[in-house]
Amino acid sequence: MFDTVLIANRGEIALRIVRACRELGVTSVAVYSDADAHAPHVREADRAVRLGPAPSTESYLRADLLIAAAQRTGAQAIHPGYGFLAEREHFARAVRDARLVFIGPPPEAIAAMGSKTEARRLAIAAGVPVVPGTTESLRDAREAREIAERFGFPVLLKAAAGGGGKGMRVVREAADLASSLDAARREAKNAFGDDAVYVEKYISGPRHVEIQVLGDAHGTMLSLGERECSVQRRHQKMIEEAPSIAVAPDLRRRMGETAVRAAQAAGYVNAGTCEFLLDAEGSFYFLEMNTRLQVEHPVTELVTGIDIVQWQIRIAAGDKLPFRQDEIAPNGWAIECRITSEDPANGFLPATGRISYLRLPGGPGVRWDGGIGAGSEVGLHYDPMLAKLIVHAPTRDAAIARMHRALLELTIQGVETSRDFHLRVMEDDEFRRGAIDIQWLERRLSSLTNVAAPPEGEMAAVIAAALLAEQERLRRVPPASGLAPNGTPAAGDDRAAWRLAARRDGLVEG
Ligand code: ADP
Repeated sequence: MFDTVLIANRGEIALRIVRACRELGVTSVAVYSDADAHAPHVREADRAVRLGPAPSTESYLRADLLIAAAQRTGAQAIHPGYGFLAEREHFARAVRDARLVFIGPPPEAIAAMGSKTEARRLAIAAGVPVVPGTTESLRDAREAREIAERFGFPVLLKAAAGGGGKGMRVVREAADLASSLDAARREAKNAFGDDAVYVEKYISGPRHVEIQVLGDAHGTMLSLGERECSVQRRHQKMIEEAPSIAVAPDLRRRMGETAVRAAQAAGYVNAGTCEFLLDAEGSFYFLEMNTRLQVEHPVTELVTGIDIVQWQIRIAAGDKLPFRQDEIAPNGWAIECRITSEDPANGFLPATGRISYLRLPGGPGVRWDGGIGAGSEVGLHYDPMLAKLIVHAPTRDAAIARMHRALLELTIQGVETSRDFHLRVMEDDEFRRGAIDIQWLERRLSSLTNVAAPPEGEMAAVIAAALLAEQERLRRVPPASGLAPNGTPAAGDDRAAWRLAARRDGLVEG
């Protein structure tokens, strides 16, 4: 095992990796930009190295500084987390060239899966079903039109180098093709420095179901089962769960075998994820492979009992996986909500501020993977994801009830967050029934975020909540030193409680 690992990341994922290192008895080295000098991941790591100024191009994206920091601190390996340099072939290669271990797949596997068109070619060659479409990038709008007419509209234009939903355009009719192609190309060029765009058939109303794989350097490649990530806004995941309500054991086995085949075809080692679209008929299509740890890995950890981050480190150190495929089956249900500094009532506008008060949920089956503390400054330099709230319970219904309870306990003051939005999703009938697909949230969004004008019958509950909040504020005594204050719940909490009371009394329908 390594003595020391450098963590080339920040926020919640850096802290997650610090925790894995500590449990393995490995010394962790954090890195930070000037904006993060007092961040929790820096405080919690055994050692910390300053990289540079706040912009990530001058800090977290500087491969040279990261490698120098690893060498200076005697680290033998670098964990890239997700985002930043995690899926950059050049970084994995530079780490290897510096005689350090990259905790992730070999650079060749990152390259093979790095381009969507190449990944599609590789998948097709391995007998993995892909969404109908091309494997070559488009020459011009005329070619796009010919292909689109062959598959039938709507089609999806996608950047070959794409990621994070960028460079994607749905095209519903031929007349829009030329302008959409221009727009997709421009966006791709800006985001990835590569304007190659190809076409896929646009699948209507599928679920996003992905398979976590884990492979060692001794030839074992396992599927850890599926996660459903259909609750998306602008192709970005907001809530994830494991298992999926749409996946029965036989489908789980077939999707798992397919993902393992795709990973093996790429010469994959370590943790990775194959993303699929699953249609209403139970057919699934490979989208892409993410060659890194995913944000949503905790839901898989909770239902399988396998610590993916610890295994990433152990696999990189040469350990053999001790599990057999037939021993891995989901136990219970796990749900994750991404807590972001975005204002749902305001079109999910990124919010900034200083976290003045933070009350974390606890109790049975609750996990908080966060990168913030009271006093943290939330700026615009980095991703708006502050933390992940994850719950585990015996059934999906129980997990939803637990998440709702945990969200009520969570209080973040000083910056707008997505917390109230998640509460409303947990209360939503369609979500509770599992009647979701990747377009579900966009259809439902206005009713889930429209807090400005509460329905008439709710007005009394709103006023009562405001009065209660005021009363709480007046009653609050300064906390004894060293004890966490029992904070005033945000107005949202009280409103939910009053709404429940009103429902019980028959004042409000629902
Ligand atoms: P990115 O790498 O930019 O995240 P993906 O290929 O993973 O792009 O797709 C992101 C999301 O876009 C998917 O989760 C799904 O919601 C949607 N999507 C992708 N391809 C299709 C398709 N062919 N039809 C319908 N929706 C799609």
